[in-house]
Amino acid sequence: MSKRREGSEPTARQSTMCHNCGGQGHLLEPVCAVIGGSGRSLPQLRPCRWCGESGRVPGLTPPT
Ligand SMILES: [Zn+2]
Repeated sequence: MSKRREGSEPTARQSTMCHNCGGQGHLLEPVCAVIGGSGRSLPQLRPCRWCGESGRVPGLTPPT
């Protein structure tokens, strides 16, 4: 009889921090913009579509 230890417990309601945005709910993405004739990159806030801006995703998502 061997007992296996698994890292994740079968919890029904468990949320994990979104690895896509780091739990912020949004992402800062540099967007190229031309301002005054010169190209610049401006950081722009974009809502994270993985967690729906909540910063958390339901269930367990193992970091890859
Ligand atoms: Zn997210």
